[in-house]
Amino acid sequence: MPDTMIPAATDVIDLTRALVRCESVTPVEAGALKLLEKVLGGIGFQCERMDFTQAGTDDVSNLYARIGTGGRHFCFAGHSDVVPVGDLSSWTVGPFSAELSDGYLLGRGAADMKGAIAAFTEASARFLARRGQDFGGSISLLITGDEEGPAVNGTVKMLKRLADRGEKIDVCVVGEPTSSRRFGDMMKIGRRGSMNVDMIVRGVQGHVAYPERLDNAIHRLTALIEALIREPIDKGSTHFQPTSLQFTTVDVGNKATNIAPGTAKARFNTRFNDLWTSKTLLAHLTERLERANAALGGNGTFELQATVSGESFYTPPGPLSDLVAGAVRDVAGIDPELSTTGGTSDARFIRNSCPVLEFGLVGESMHKVDEKSAVADLKTLARVYETVLDRYFAT
Ligand SMILES: [Zn+2]
Repeated sequence: MPDTMIPAATDVIDLTRALVRCESVTPVEAGALKLLEKVLGGIGFQCERMDFTQAGTDDVSNLYARIGTGGRHFCFAGHSDVVPVGDLSSWTVGPFSAELSDGYLLGRGAADMKGAIAAFTEASARFLARRGQDFGGSISLLITGDEEGPAVNGTVKMLKRLADRGEKIDVCVVGEPTSSRRFGDMMKIGRRGSMNVDMIVRGVQGHVAYPERLDNAIHRLTALIEALIREPIDKGSTHFQPTSLQFTTVDVGNKATNIAPGTAKARFNTRFNDLWTSKTLLAHLTERLERANAALGGNGTFELQATVSGESFYTPPGPLSDLVAGAVRDVAGIDPELSTTGGTSDARFIRNSCPVLEFGLVGESMHKVDEKSAVADLKTLARVYETVLDRYFAT
């Protein structure tokens, strides 16, 4: 279909640039959702702002746009917020100026993930221009402004509102930049879970010259750390890498040279696969620590405080991954690997509602200075999403 058949505002390059120019660093909306609302409304979507507040967190604006009232419901999920620019002096272009250079579109959010939102918008515009608004199904965009932040007032609450009013999503594609080195080389069919754990170890403080009267918390902590890192947690599963456990800090804060501390703290993050839930993993780690602590003797104790950012999830290869992989293959000429690597995303919330996978641009530059996407990739992504819609609503 010639480009003149769709509104100029839905052009993937122009729209990505317009979105990048909105300085929507979490939790600020900065006009990004307002712009989308206008563009999507222009091609027939019903737009609904879902703004949420919760004590102790920032107010967040989100956008739910849907066309169609019945039939099968295909949802595209994404986020319009971006991470901060970091060291501004290291950028070679203005992070929000959306410059085109050397075949790339540069700027914060170009890859993660305003480009994908724009690509999906163009794909929808093309699909609707050909099929009309009564194509027998529903397409929606679920766009949060709170993915890069605490993710409290975004996707979770949007999904709950939809569920509360009986609105069901059948399948969902999240537009995170999942391609690794080359466009189309990877999609994500699951993600590892993530949990941060604070470990507080208590012994008995004392004068270093009288070791028999003290129980050095650093020594105890060292043994407990060792108990967690000496043996691998698991060997991985069919679709997941081995669970990883990384200590991120050890803190004692002892300024004295003649005192052995009574308390020592450490923190670790663990990225766990589908062999565990946060609960079973924490129980396993606690057991290891109890054994190690008992072996040390004395009355020293430890305490764990866990914060779970997300459980692991996995959508088994099936109709949805076949659909998206087939579109990538036919449009981009590459077979995407079905992966579960990398950080967490809002797909962890959506998987409770429907089958979900993630496919988008090359993520190499995400969160870095000079974040960018190839102009050609943005155009190809729009074609991939369009093909996905075509085939999903073909039968
Ligand atoms: Zn993202």
